[in-house]
Amino acid sequence: MTALFQQLPSVDKLLNASQGQQLTTKFGHSAVVGVCRALLQQSRQFIQQNRRLPDFLIQDQAVFAEIERRLLQQSRVQIKSVHNLTGTVLHTNLGRALWAESAQRAALTAMGENVALEYDLEAGKRSHRDNYISELIHQLTGAEAACVVNNNAAAVLLMLATFAQGKEVIISRGELIEIGGAFRIPDIMAQAGCKLVEVGTTNRTHLTDYRNAINENTAFLMKVHSSNYQICGFTGEVAEHQLVELGREFNLPVISDLGSGALTDLSRYNLPKEPTVQEKFAQGVDLISFSGDKLLGGPQAGIIAGKRELIRQLQSHPLKRVLRCDKVILAGLEATLRLYLQPEKLAEKLTSLHLLTQPVEQLQRQAERLKAKLESVLNDEFSMQIEASSAQIGSGSQPMARIPSVAVTIAEKSSQKLTALLTRFKRLSSPIIARVENNKIWLDLRSLADLEKLLTALDELN
Ligand SMILES: *Cc1c(COP(=O)(O)O)cnc(C)c1O
Repeated sequence: MTALFQQLPSVDKLLNASQGQQLTTKFGHSAVVGVCRALLQQSRQFIQQNRRLPDFLIQDQAVFAEIERRLLQQSRVQIKSVHNLTGTVLHTNLGRALWAESAQRAALTAMGENVALEYDLEAGKRSHRDNYISELIHQLTGAEAACVVNNNAAAVLLMLATFAQGKEVIISRGELIEIGGAFRIPDIMAQAGCKLVEVGTTNRTHLTDYRNAINENTAFLMKVHSSNYQICGFTGEVAEHQLVELGREFNLPVISDLGSGALTDLSRYNLPKEPTVQEKFAQGVDLISFSGDKLLGGPQAGIIAGKRELIRQLQSHPLKRVLRCDKVILAGLEATLRLYLQPEKLAEKLTSLHLLTQPVEQLQRQAERLKAKLESVLNDEFSMQIEASSAQIGSGSQPMARIPSVAVTIAEKSSQKLTALLTRFKRLSSPIIARVENNKIWLDLRSLADLEKLLTALDELN
């Protein structure tokens, strides 16, 4: 073993070789030294375990190829493009909504150029970064004004901290939701320093339950949309307009966390209906919060819309500065909202709505092309079929609703072979993320953004 260790080159020797110097010119001294050190350290471990030199040290040139490979790998971004064939269109783990093209362009401009973010070009003076969004939300929903923060969780936190610190918030037991990723309404209440007053029961809450809980320390009445679950059977909840009436009697605002918050009625597109922001305002709710990257189809953001005076108070809370969005997000969000001003073109231009509304016949044609491609790159031990599938919106919108879709399914007698195939899919330079169900791999076309790119990626399986 000692003899093997003695064959290891020193860092200096690697750096001073002509190939080493070429690498230093290309990547800089520190990065090359760092990679050489790590490589030699790993080589020592390899010798200890295997009692031989690693392959790249046996051949003289191979070590430099290995160093260069590692240096290139180091600068490759790991948040890389994947093909979403899960059938869940707004997939939180895969980044939720894909931005519309106009939103991408607006964001790109904001990234590389100075923009009029907090500058009123007409008045020639400072303005507020949320003004553009506020004006658009006013046009689209009738809300008096809006405030934008990092995400909807932040929106809920800001509303609670601003209006209910040290006070009580009344909420139905049927609405104490957990969204996942540690967002639980009771925990957010505690973070914001307010006291949660639960009323009613899990399945039924009545207006009198709210009424009986009101006292001089009540800050507001809260509704939370049960976005990721459904309570069925003997149930009852209090509608917003009833809460609003009660709130008026006691001079208490009604605040609603809508979650996904559709800005357009999805049933127009034959999709499962999700309550719209406009419908909630029509019931008289004072403030509504919703996400930017769920059904709205834009960047991650939380939008709070409603009464001007309440929005003004939110804007001046110190937490708003902590939670505010940057220029890239605001530019992308503005461009996304502008698409809603031309509703007839929305399903064509808003990517997530486009995916959700693709006709099944179109998905069928895509499935045929995908199946043909898979048959050409995989050997015949796999049996492939085109099958009817059910996709879903995702991100807690209509958790029980299924949208008709088409999938290519891959079956194989041995489940080990299927697992190995999934691994091969994941190792592609743009990996395929699929769904596994009933011992088959399901490649659902409803959530796929780019078939041509997928077909090209599959060539690597050859
Ligand atoms: C998704 C959701 C949230 C959290 O929104 P993010 O934008 O993911 O932070 C909060 N409340 C409800 C009801 C939701 O559906």
